[in-house]
Amino acid sequence: MPGFTPGRRWQPAYSPFKKENFGDRALQVLEYSVKGPLFGCRMCGNCLLQETAFICPMECPKGLRNGPCGGSTSEYCYVDKTRPCIWYKIYERSFQLGREELLLEVLPPLDWEKVGQDSWRDIFRNVAKIGYKKVVNGLLSSPVNLL
Ligand code: SF4
Repeated sequence: MPGFTPGRRWQPAYSPFKKENFGDRALQVLEYSVKGPLFGCRMCGNCLLQETAFICPMECPKGLRNGPCGGSTSEYCYVDKTRPCIWYKIYERSFQLGREELLLEVLPPLDWEKVGQDSWRDIFRNVAKIGYKKVVNGLLSSPVNLL
């Protein structure tokens, strides 16, 4: 079970739809080898960990990226009663970490062009655009300041 994702049951990672070069493939393997054990990452290519209190929303059997659904309860998932609703866990941890304001954001659906690919490249690109100093200062002050 990954260290930072409660209620995890194994689900396979996505594979890219396109044939990719060695460098891209190597980055995907590296990202999966780090985020798989830590977060149960499924390589959706559109990472939302920052917004979901570092719990992967792709744990949801319905793959909901804005949850919870109408049938779940605080005790169990609507689809599989043997596991907790991952969206309840996301809400709980968001409040524990003081990141509840991030839950007000409507999260985008999967971009299927990116599914199976790494998301680190986009993060590095955005950090470079914003400026490393500003990002580090934001991380050290408040998570909501990054918005
Ligand atoms: S949101 Fe996507 S990229 Fe981020 S940990 Fe979950 S499956 Fe991996």
